Order: sequence, then structure tokens, then C-alpha cells
Amino acid sequence: MKFFKYLIISISIILTNFGLISNTGRLRVSIDNQYIQTYKNTIGKWVLYDKKNLNYYATEYETTVEEILRINNHNLKSKKYIFVPFGEKYKNDLLKKGYGRRILEIEPNKLLWPLENLMLTSRYGRRFHRDHTGIDFAAPVGTIVVSADMGTVKQVGWIGGYGLSILIQHPDGKETLYAHLSEIFISVEDEVQMGQIIGLTGTTGISTGPHLHFEVRYQNIPFDPEDFFPSGYFRNDVILREGEDGIVIFNNTPDRIKQMPFL
Ligand SMILES: [Zn+2]
Repeated sequence: MKFFKYLIISISIILTNFGLISNTGRLRVSIDNQYIQTYKNTIGKWVLYDKKNLNYYATEYETTVEEILRINNHNLKSKKYIFVPFGEKYKNDLLKKGYGRRILEIEPNKLLWPLENLMLTSRYGRRFHRDHTGIDFAAPVGTIVVSADMGTVKQVGWIGGYGLSILIQHPDGKETLYAHLSEIFISVEDEVQMGQIIGLTGTTGISTGPHLHFEVRYQNIPFDPEDFFPSGYFRNDVILREGEDGIVIFNNTPDRIKQMPFL
């Protein structure tokens, strides 16, 4: 009985968090892009705080100053970026214009690739005279990094040679690490969803060029991240996109949204 109770709770947690399970039993996950992002399960966008004042952002994104303050915990001091929630009309207009997020269908218990465009430049294992404890993806500075799974933020900030990094703890005990970042948006103890923007790529720490170093760890032991992804290096999942009427299917159409430096 205990098992069934646990199973039902697990299933309801999955349904609540992802909203949708496709008819093939795979999870549908929305992937944040530079136009539509999520924070604390709210849709909006991270913006440079010192660029404009709060009234400007409230008007621009058709929300209120109160809403902006609320989602940022009324704490804007020394913040470089703040999250601006979208008004309903602003969000619908974006979807009408085709800026909806990609929706991937992935196998349950698999991780999501942390970048949209994958250029694998170094695999896990022995490299030169030392062990490479993760995988590297080349990416221009300012490329969006998303959480590979739902979880709780355990550590953010400078971690030695890793530079600006994020460590996320996932429900099954594994941890994912995102290193050499230029910006970090989330804070310790934040709950993050799979596909939620967490930071931007950079070249901080010991790094020979702009890239993301990504690790998967169990009890501090790094494993080969490629073993945790749905289809090895090449991602061939069914790709859909959210539109104004819900989910719009794009069959092998090239992405309208290219990787661009984050503004
Ligand atoms: Zn690396």
C-alpha cells in the first residue's frame, strides 16, 4: 500500500510540474529562450536592472511595479538583473508573433540538454594528463543555460577553477553543475524546473574560451553526463512549439529563434 501511495504522489507531482504528459508517456518540457523565460513558475524575462527604471519595465511588459517587486522578493539592491513577469496580453502577443518556447518530449528520468544548440568540444574522461569530470560545449558568451532537471539550487557563485558556477540538487540525489558562466540568475534554495533559465554562458575560471562545462554527480562523484541524456550527443526528440492556441507542431522546420547574445 505504501508503494502505491508513493507512486500516486510521484505521478501527481510529475503531472503538476510538467502540466503535460504526451500519449507516448514522455514528458513535455518547455525550454526558456531569450524572449520567454520562467522564474518561480511565472512567465516573464530577466532584464538588466540598471538600464531602465521599474516603471519603464512595468509599462513595457504590461505588468505592475508591485508584481515586479513581489517576484524579486522586494530585494532589488545590488541586483544586476531582475525578473519582470509578463502581463497576459504581452505574453499572448509574443506567442502570436511566433516567439513561443520549444517544447521537447523527453523520456522520464532523463536529463535535458542545458543548451539549445549543442557543439560538444570535449567529452568526459581522460584528457591530456588529467581527468575531465564533465563535458564541454562551445557557446558564445551570453548563451542561455537551462536547468537539466527540476531541483533545488544548492550552490551559486565562484567555485575555484570552475569560475562562476551553479550546483543544483535533484530529487533522486544527483547533482548537476554548470561552470564558467558569465551571469547567474537564481539563488541558493530556489526551486527550479527542467528547462528554466538559470544563467548565461561565459569563460570565467580556468577556461580557454567561451564554453559551458557540465557535470553530473552522485555523492560528489562525477559520472559521464552523456549517459543521462535521451539520445546521446544528437538530440532527435519531437520538437513542438507553444503558440497562441496552445501547442503548435513544427515538423522539422528550422528554429525561428537562433542563439543570440542575451541583451
Ligand atoms: Zn570541461
